[in-house]
Amino acid sequence: MAKFVYDFTEGNKDLKDLLGGKGANLAEMTNLGLPVPPGFTITTEACRHYLEHGDLPEGLTDEIDAHLAALEKRMGRRLGQSDDPLLVSVRSGAKFSMPGMMDTVLNIGLNDESVHGLAKQAGGNERFAWDSYRRLIQMFGKTVLGVEGFEEALDELKGSRQDTDLTVDELRELVRTYKRLAPAFPSDPREQMRMAVMAVFDSWNSERAVLYRRQERIPADLGTAVNICSMVFGNCGDDSGTGVAFTRDPASGRQGVYGDYLSNAQGEDVVAGIRNTISLQELEELDKGAYDELMAIMATLENHYRDLCDIEFTVERGKLWMLQTRVGKRTAAAAFRIATQLVDQGLIDLDEALRRVNGDQLAQLMFPRFAKDADRKLVTKGMNASPGAAVGKAVFSSERAVELAAKGEDVILVRRETTPDDLSGMIAAKGILTSRGGKTSHAAVVARGMGKTCVCGAEELEVSISAKRFTGPGGVEVGEGDLISIDGSTGEVFLGEVPVVDSAVVEYFERGELSDELVTAVDRIMRHADSMRALGVRANADTPEDASRARRFGAEGIGLCRTEHMFLGDRRQLVEDLVLASDRQERQAALDALEPLQQADFTGIFQAMEGLPVTIRLIDPPLHEFLPDIIDLSIKVAAGDATDKDRELLAAVKRLHEQNPMLGLRGVRLGLVIPGLFAMQVRAIAEAAKQVPGARAEIMIPLVGAVQELEAVREEAARILSDAGVEALIGTMIEVPRAALTAGQIAEAAQFFSFGTNDLTQMTWGFSRDDVEAAFFSRYLELGIFGVSPFETLDRDGVGRLVRIAAEEGRKARPDLKLGICGEHGGDPDSVHFCHEVGLDYVSCSPFRIPVARLEAGRAAL
Ligand code: PEP
Ligand code: MG
Repeated sequence: MAKFVYDFTEGNKDLKDLLGGKGANLAEMTNLGLPVPPGFTITTEACRHYLEHGDLPEGLTDEIDAHLAALEKRMGRRLGQSDDPLLVSVRSGAKFSMPGMMDTVLNIGLNDESVHGLAKQAGGNERFAWDSYRRLIQMFGKTVLGVEGFEEALDELKGSRQDTDLTVDELRELVRTYKRLAPAFPSDPREQMRMAVMAVFDSWNSERAVLYRRQERIPADLGTAVNICSMVFGNCGDDSGTGVAFTRDPASGRQGVYGDYLSNAQGEDVVAGIRNTISLQELEELDKGAYDELMAIMATLENHYRDLCDIEFTVERGKLWMLQTRVGKRTAAAAFRIATQLVDQGLIDLDEALRRVNGDQLAQLMFPRFAKDADRKLVTKGMNASPGAAVGKAVFSSERAVELAAKGEDVILVRRETTPDDLSGMIAAKGILTSRGGKTSHAAVVARGMGKTCVCGAEELEVSISAKRFTGPGGVEVGEGDLISIDGSTGEVFLGEVPVVDSAVVEYFERGELSDELVTAVDRIMRHADSMRALGVRANADTPEDASRARRFGAEGIGLCRTEHMFLGDRRQLVEDLVLASDRQERQAALDALEPLQQADFTGIFQAMEGLPVTIRLIDPPLHEFLPDIIDLSIKVAAGDATDKDRELLAAVKRLHEQNPMLGLRGVRLGLVIPGLFAMQVRAIAEAAKQVPGARAEIMIPLVGAVQELEAVREEAARILSDAGVEALIGTMIEVPRAALTAGQIAEAAQFFSFGTNDLTQMTWGFSRDDVEAAFFSRYLELGIFGVSPFETLDRDGVGRLVRIAAEEGRKARPDLKLGICGEHGGDPDSVHFCHEVGLDYVSCSPFRIPVARLEAGRAAL
């Protein structure tokens, strides 16, 4: 029979799939001999069964009972025993950390009788017992029973006092009020536990958990584990407390110990920002013994996990307990710094360092930052919780953030502190600013996870949510809609819009200067990636400027030069003349006008690439982009103020009008329909190549579906090249499914293939690439039909299968066939890994994605 429950002594850190991150790490710490309160974990498998069938799997209840009995025996007290109760916490814990998104219930086991037993256990501390009891009803009521109003009742009773100022009588009264709010609260401890377990399972599908998973691309079908842990108490007096800590600064990566501690408090109080926390340094003064032990444990954990760890701990009457650890979330900059620091400490090697960073993080480091020498009006400085430079209108609620962002406005979400309910607003906002909470606050943790700019704990700001404004030092006032700029790397908050400049990492790629520790770390890891990767990296570039930048960023050639981009702007008229030419003479005149311009374009690019290969794609315009708008013209003609030329033009546009221009007269089809067009381009390439010594041209024919199309163009191109005495490869794009399926035939006429996965995705799925994102992709993502748009990350099963077939059959027909990709996927991390697996020779992407592609190609080869 399946085993659904594991004692902490039975698991280990590698069992995250089954025990969730929290459960696996509690087991690991238990086995390391660290002080973890005893307990057990119910597996994610049990959760998946429950979510699927709406019922606990057979045997689970008996298993829980058996583990509970063993726990009771070990602790010497029974769950909720009236004179000496064992209390437990019931905590969620999925494979991937989802901070605050799912439910937790503490103090399970308390009722009107056992509350007295707890007071006795704590040496007659009634205040502590009643405080624990009211917390149980509050948490249970809110998360299990879905009742609201507890915080309001507490606030009313408290007035301006702290929660620790409440008397025993007041807490007793509060329990009575709470029970009136939640009449369904069960007094039977085992029933409390059963209901809490199911509530944790259910919270996997809570709205915010679903939203968080979508944002973080966490699969929807993993389920959560449930950890049942004997309670230790941070709320039983001033010699107790609870805290969170990191072994290094998760924002900068700097070594040291960072954390927040709250005395006489329990669980969520620290993160929720109920009272101001103290730093770990202050804890040292408060309780040297607990502090020293904590430091020793943190060192043990860092050495054991060989990585930054974050932890939750509780001090119960001077005794330290570890409640959680995990390899901590960190900013992109910290990821690079920490990886190289650990290499220097001898804890990991460069391969492992490369594994621990990724292309998304590198892309984040390439975001612009605020100009230092700009005219900046500093309001205040908070904590640098998550880096980046964000500018937007201040908004004070998540609803407003979502509303304005949907209209295309940039907003900064300003809150006193955030809660998991603010998730949608945090996603919608460019940045997050809070006046309370430290680097471990909800806002900071979630923003870092998302890679979103965040300044937290800007305590000089007085934030009023109801008045929708904040005030700051010197009488500064900012209302809803006012522009502010926040710098998540320094914690600075500015009035108005501060101009942005290149990031230090972009400057490093541009100039190669190792200006600081971060850039040095990036440089080391990039060099290692380059030394490992099997894939070449090329650029999609159409101008000499882009080509030069691409080279500085590490491009080893151009994989796609889209020549139709050279026909836009002033030259659009020439193309219009060409397409609409009514006879040979007019057509030739248009071609003659275009040829020298094209030649100059190619010369510039060959010069910029200095002998590196340049793949030039012959023109592939969806025709409507080059013709006058049919509706405008029709209106003009109907209004009676059109010239004869306008009327002729309208007739021609109507003749060429297509219902599905993306499936129409494009690419090779256009080349075959308009005689002389491709020949003009090939001549321009050949002449340019002759002018630039060492130029290496590769001529690429787009939108081929049949070898016959390619043959017709190839023969003419080969003749022009040979007449000019220029050597160049001639190949094709694979972007029509038929081309992929007949790759063996096509390879007979092509020296290289480049997968145009934008069109290949469009035509494989039948999704119009220009329309679907706005039309219905959000619904598809919601339904989980795919986890990410197939235009962003290559669909391995469908489009990827075609790529595999084409690569295999193409190489079979022509063993030295060169294979590349030049769709947008060429710069997408997961797609780069796919290209490596399929054995392509190179990926090609926009210049700014080149470092990402280099890094991921290196990681793919590990
Ligand atoms: C493609 O289809 O993937 C491609 C690179 O061509 P374009 O995006 O220009 O259609
Ligand atoms: Mg294409």
